[in-house]
Order: sequence, then C-alpha cells, then structure tokens
Amino acid sequence: MLLELAIGDAYGAGFEYADIGMIRQHNNLTRYVQHPRHNIRPGAYTDDTQMTLAIAEAMVSNISWEPLALAQKFVEVFKRDPRPGYATGFYHFLQQVRDGEQFLKEIKPVSDKSGAAMRAAPLGIYPSIDQVIERCTFQATLTHNTPGGINAAVAASLMTHYFLYDLGPKQNLGAFLEKHVPGRWSSPWRGSVKSQGWMSVQAAITALTRSASMSNLLKACIQFSGDVDTVATIALAAGSCSHEIAQDLPPHLLNTLENGPYGRDYLRQLDARLLSLLETYKSGYN
Ligand SMILES: [Mg+2]
Repeated sequence: MLLELAIGDAYGAGFEYADIGMIRQHNNLTRYVQHPRHNIRPGAYTDDTQMTLAIAEAMVSNISWEPLALAQKFVEVFKRDPRPGYATGFYHFLQQVRDGEQFLKEIKPVSDKSGAAMRAAPLGIYPSIDQVIERCTFQATLTHNTPGGINAAVAASLMTHYFLYDLGPKQNLGAFLEKHVPGRWSSPWRGSVKSQGWMSVQAAITALTRSASMSNLLKACIQFSGDVDTVATIALAAGSCSHEIAQDLPPHLLNTLENGPYGRDYLRQLDARLLSLLETYKSGYN
C-alpha cells in the first residue's frame, strides 16, 4: 500500500497543475518527470506520502490515539526529513512549531482541502467500518475540522477498507461509500481536479472504476490534470488492495523511487508491519 501510494504521489508530483499538453506528451509511465515549475526531484514523494507515514507509524507503534501523540507524529515525520510539496502555509507552520503541543495550540483546522484525505489510506486496515470512521474522523479534525475535510478523509480510508475486507466489487465502491459518508461518491469526476478534498477522492474513485490495472489507473489519475499527486496517492493506495486490479506498476518506477532514510526500503518495511497488523485484525475478524 505505502509503496504504491508513494509511486503515485511521486509520479503525480511531476504533473501537479501542469498544462494538459505537457500531460498528454509525458504521461506514459516511462519515467518520473521533472515538474515544469516546482523544485521537486523526479522520484521524490511529497506531503501526501510523508503525512501517510505519520498515520501508519502511529498505527503500528500502537501509541494512544489522542491529539497530542498524533500531532507529535505529524511534527516528527516532517522535521526528520523536510521536503517540498506541502502547501506553503502548512510548510511554514510545520517549520516553526517545536512539537505536538505547540502544533495543537496554534493550528487553525478550518480547511476543507485534501490534507486529511491524502494521509488516510492506512486507516482502512482497522477491522470495522465504525472503527475506520471513528479513527479517521479523529485524525482529520486535527487539521481539517470541517465537514468537507472530514468526509473526504473518511471516504479515502473506507476505500482501502472496502478492498482489504472484500466488501464488494470495485464497480460498487461509490455506492458503498455513499451509504457511510455524505458525498456523491458514485458520480463520475470530469475535468481538472482542484484542491477541495472531495474532488480528489471523487476523481480517484472514478479512475478506479475505469481501470483494470495499476498502470492504467496511474495514467487515468494524471489525465484529469490539476491536483493529481493527491488523486494518484488516494487511488493507488486503494488499487493496491483490490483483487480486481492487476498489480503491474512498471518496475523502473519502483527502482527509481527515492531511497533515502525514509524512501523505498523504509516504505517496504512499514508496509510489512501494516500487513501484519491487517492479518492480526483479520484473524480476529473471521
Ligand atoms: Mg502533494
């Protein structure tokens, strides 16, 4: 899950808000492209993956699910490995806060953008829909305490849950989400994806519904244009959990994904820990 979502994020980062001509020319999975304006190295992931690491590490380390511990995680994963790709305001906020306590004191969690949704995928590992919703809502409120920000996050976490626990065919994903989270999740997304959280989630669901393989899924996410690193992060996380989607991401995208202290090898180890957490829950679940 983490490896795939990081590949989606890093690949999408080269195309974020790029013009459609550039996308048509280069969206062929041959390599990570250099973004025409941003200073992000090809193959480097962005805020989507880094914040997902905070959630995943909190889950596997079994810290108490309370605001201070989670805020501390957000600060810790950023400060140990700062990187471009964050929204400017949040980047500066993370730079200037010392710790989780100051984070909680000074954050203004009024955004309905995609920040809480882009990091929500691992939460689908929890064994019941209610628990996924509860834990995801909780993490979302720390930074995105708005109906739009929370609903997008809950939908993103239930997407992985739906596939991990085999709750139905992927064609029914949107209808399933509509039963549990306010939003028009089964309506197809069209056109460029803007920054509100529900938009990235709806685009990701649309791409999942239309794709039978991870390669096609990744290309479909980028083709929308707009905030496509987030669309690809959410979609590839869910796609990696689906039996109906061929796991065919090109090996060169895996091999050229960043591999610093928190890169490919680290993601792979953390993925293994998430998988064993899933197995623990599944053995109790059946
Ligand atoms: Mg990003």
